[in-house]
Amino acid sequence: MKVLVPVKRVIDYNVQVRVKSDQSGVELTNVKMAMNPFCEIAVEQAIRMKEAGQAEEIIVVSAGPQKAQETLRTALAMGADRGVHIESDTDLEPLAVAKLLQKVVEKEGAGIVVMGKQAIDGDNNQTGQMLSALLGWSQGTFISAIELNGDTVKVTREVDGGLEKVELRMPAVVTVDLRLNEPRYASLPNIMKAKKKPIDVMSIEELGVDVSPRVQVIKVEEPEKRKAGEIVGSVAELVDKLKNEAKVI
Ligand code: AMP
Repeated sequence: MKVLVPVKRVIDYNVQVRVKSDQSGVELTNVKMAMNPFCEIAVEQAIRMKEAGQAEEIIVVSAGPQKAQETLRTALAMGADRGVHIESDTDLEPLAVAKLLQKVVEKEGAGIVVMGKQAIDGDNNQTGQMLSALLGWSQGTFISAIELNGDTVKVTREVDGGLEKVELRMPAVVTVDLRLNEPRYASLPNIMKAKKKPIDVMSIEELGVDVSPRVQVIKVEEPEKRKAGEIVGSVAELVDKLKNEAKVI
């Protein structure tokens, strides 16, 4: 079975994000970028499936600018076999990404898609759900455990009230949550080996997908600054302030 893992290049999660002065988005010039952390978890999961003999090939796919190939190389150094780069210099909405991924899934004949539950830049949490709908495949979202059993896959979903276990008919799209695993670091020899692994480059035109935007960003604002704290003299004073000033108890 081929496993397809879509990976996105985003602002590194350690970076303090700054809003552009014209409020049209966030500053990306000279900002450190990295693989979306949830996509790293998805790559790790695919590698574990291959190590367990449940998958034959791991194909990583990224839609984005030329530099998205760096993200693909990171996934290849972790252990993926092959990369697909869909070239795009404009921001792609989740629906556009899902349509592009649908084409790649069909072209490659993948049996499962393992992907991040959300990209930490747009926080959309939409692409996996849209992809499964477009493919007509089962969907397991926010998963923290997975067990493949041939024609079915059992997943544990992290839902608000706790954990939900569901069994999905294959083929399926699963979107991974934080607690599924801890992604490995690529070793130096594997980083060197990854340079020789193939990356196919495709254009949006070649895939025949309409990626024109459906959503318009009106304004991006910084979150409100936190007010300075206050040191209180006693527990009684704290309780009084919580009750009468903050009105939270
Ligand atoms: P989102 O729906 O944007 O929060 O993203 C959820 C997941 O979709 C990510 O973790 C990736 O696995 C995948 N994804 C989103 N955008 C891209 C992209 N441009 N290229 C490849 N995969 C993507």
